[in-house]
Amino acid sequence: MTAPARPVLTGMELAVLRGAAEGQTYAVLGARLGLNEKSVAKIAVRLGRKIGARNITHAVHLAHHVGLLPECQGDRASYLRHLKRGEPTHAVCRAANAQHAVEQRAGRLATKELA
Ligand SMILES: [Zn+2]
Repeated sequence: MTAPARPVLTGMELAVLRGAAEGQTYAVLGARLGLNEKSVAKIAVRLGRKIGARNITHAVHLAHHVGLLPECQGDRASYLRHLKRGEPTHAVCRAANAQHAVEQRAGRLATKELA
């Protein structure tokens, strides 16, 4: 499998993407970046188009996979690293961690059945 192309985002687009990955609203992000909410929404649409995403949530998901958010690969290891460093977690790495817990439980049940 070849990795998807890594689009080039502007600093502002990356800031919006990071903020969205942290679960910030456009209003909060706007205040942080010195923009109004509408401008943040516009940037979100633009960066989504660059990445080929359907919406900002999809953009965050794809961004993890193409390495646009290098601090997180959207897996359990990333989730644990966030916790250790006191960083915000993301929907994708939280989901990976939850999936791991489900698999662990299923594994324990399977082992019990065999015993
Ligand atoms: Zn993450």
